[in-house]
Amino acid sequence: MKRPPRSTEPAAAASHLGRRELLGSAALAGAALLGCRPKKDPYRIDKPPVPRVPGWRTGEERWVLSTCALCEAACGIKVRVVEGRAVKIEGNPEHPVNRGGLCSRGQAALQALYHPERVRSPLRRTGSRGSGQWKTISWDEAIGEVTAKLAKLRAAGGPERLVLIDGETGTLTHNLWARFLLAYGSPNHVGMGSTGSAAVELDTPYRQGLYGWRADDLERTGLLLAMGTDLLASSGQAMHLQCASRARRPRVICVSPRRPGCRVDEWIPIAPGGYGALALALVHVLLRDALVDSRGFEALPGAGRTPEETTQVTGIPAETVERLAHALAENRPALVASDGSVVAASNGLSTAIAISALNGLLGERERLARVLGTVRMAGWPAPTVDALAAARRAVPRVDGAGTAACPFGQSRVQALPAAIASAKPYPVEALLVRGANPLATLPGRQAWAAALQRVPFVVSFSPWLDETAWLADLVLPESLFLEAWDMVWPAAVTDPPVLSLRQPVVGPVHGTRQSGDLVLALAAGLGGSIGSALPWKRQQDVVETSFPPQSMAAIKEKGAGRSVCADDENCKHGLGEIVDLESTTPHEFAFFARRIASAGTRDGTRSSEAAAGSGLPPWEAPRFSGDPLQFPLHLVPYRPAPFVADGAHAFPWLSELPLVSGNPWPLRAEINPADAARFGVADGDEVLVESSVGSCAAVALVSDGVRPGVVAMALGKSGVVDLVVPDEDRLSGLLAWQGTRVRLRRAS
Ligand code: SF4
Repeated sequence: MKRPPRSTEPAAAASHLGRRELLGSAALAGAALLGCRPKKDPYRIDKPPVPRVPGWRTGEERWVLSTCALCEAACGIKVRVVEGRAVKIEGNPEHPVNRGGLCSRGQAALQALYHPERVRSPLRRTGSRGSGQWKTISWDEAIGEVTAKLAKLRAAGGPERLVLIDGETGTLTHNLWARFLLAYGSPNHVGMGSTGSAAVELDTPYRQGLYGWRADDLERTGLLLAMGTDLLASSGQAMHLQCASRARRPRVICVSPRRPGCRVDEWIPIAPGGYGALALALVHVLLRDALVDSRGFEALPGAGRTPEETTQVTGIPAETVERLAHALAENRPALVASDGSVVAASNGLSTAIAISALNGLLGERERLARVLGTVRMAGWPAPTVDALAAARRAVPRVDGAGTAACPFGQSRVQALPAAIASAKPYPVEALLVRGANPLATLPGRQAWAAALQRVPFVVSFSPWLDETAWLADLVLPESLFLEAWDMVWPAAVTDPPVLSLRQPVVGPVHGTRQSGDLVLALAAGLGGSIGSALPWKRQQDVVETSFPPQSMAAIKEKGAGRSVCADDENCKHGLGEIVDLESTTPHEFAFFARRIASAGTRDGTRSSEAAAGSGLPPWEAPRFSGDPLQFPLHLVPYRPAPFVADGAHAFPWLSELPLVSGNPWPLRAEINPADAARFGVADGDEVLVESSVGSCAAVALVSDGVRPGVVAMALGKSGVVDLVVPDEDRLSGLLAWQGTRVRLRRAS
């Protein structure tokens, strides 16, 4: 359809007219010649002025490369920007993580950018907490108020009483906040990883003795054994697994209690908590039948369980396990990959180690799988830490992480409500929350609400007035990722590792500020050693000066770059450092890191195998909360493809996506036909799902895509987290999402 030029378009812009404008002008001229009055285009959108985008010409468009932030995968994106307004997001075909692919969340990100409910400027609470009474204040006032509170806390000698809940990892911004807390003197940088996202890296610190992600060569993988409901659909690895294997798609077998929402060659239903037992049974068959080179694994056979012994835990027939083991051996190199839900169980660490041992036996080193070290910044000055900060950083963390009983220091965000309520080991005086909404996304909503009421000063950096922000004293809205600078190292790892550039595709739509700019402003306001630890003026400066100019130029051109750089200056500073497996001796495999072998568990007991120093992976049966007679079903919360950890409400398109079938709006309780018959429930019935800590209403979805004995429910829908008992893995401190028993009945 031809569009007449807008009456507001300046004549000077004529020289920049695009094809559509020229056609529109021709039509207008033709109409004038015919004596017709031009009509208003009925399809014209009366767009509001494009905010803060000087320099754009009418009809001008650009494609801007950046990095998605809606999950830990950090896919490369390219955004079409027309007249300064972002109008479409596509996958960046040159990005090694997603190779042009983009999931539904990435596609929908524009809706968050232009969402009418974004917080547009800093807010100060004027009524009681939760009253919803706010007053708009300036950024100077907001920063000044936070700075004054933090300065007072530090002057009183208690900087450790500041806690930051940080939902983001693997970015420069996260590192800036970490450096801020280091210089300020608080050890309490509490991540959300214990709630699942960090679980997939759990095996490396315990087995290899260091943190890092495994990078697997998917192009050469013959068989991918995908463990977990979410792995191929919504995990941080999903896009990488789907797109990296396009050139040579491996055979994919999925093991999970719920059939995944994407195409696989075979689905094997497994009982919740049974993954580790399955891995050990596979190890047993591989060794018993001499299907693999077992040199270096001589110590393991005793730890492997026979398929018959594990059937009761896994629910998988012994003959299926035998067949699966032979398939793994015949399709080498074979890879076993798992998502966070697999180890988000009471036996999570032992599960991770068992899967890791299975991968080792299948020839991990053959596949060039390596553990990637932490990316450190080139060019950052050594941080200044004064005596007070050094002393107070040494006190125990409020969440119990980092103690001798939790040797690798995973955050335990779920422990915060109890720690705040008891004021032990010390009271929390100030709480900052960014990139997280614990009140709505973690179990124990009431405990979280009570905890927030106890903290004298709560600041939220949320772009939304979400449930946690609602109870804050100040809301300092961060810009969204499409408006901000950052450098990201994706969770979906490739070898060599990738650095992915995030840059603003548009100017700030509202009066928000980038997170990095906020922490730099706070540091400058506090001054002294804190200010000198963070000497930059803007987040953009941090991004552009943290990497050598030639690396930045290459990264800007493609949107991402490899961070390995043989002998250049960059590597001397540790950027992209690669750390090989601890077990470097040929035919020797490290089942257990020496550090963990000497460490106790958080509850003071020791894994018997670890204490004995045998080096064997410990075995633990899963524990479930709830009396099996009262609560005969297992709850399987899963992350559906449209799941956004802290803000699904901001994406109307995602809310419209049907998760399993038909009407997308009601929460579904997915059950097997056998259970439906057992409980007298029909497809479409309104049901009540109850656990020992909560209940929620749902609509029954009867499906043979769910294993008998299981109720599968999508996270992100209101009410599911209220069912989960906040139990955890006693070894690792990870939240046991998969450890709750429930019952289900028709709503009367
Ligand atoms: S997989 Fe994650 S990072 Fe990639 S497009 Fe989807 S939400 Fe964004």
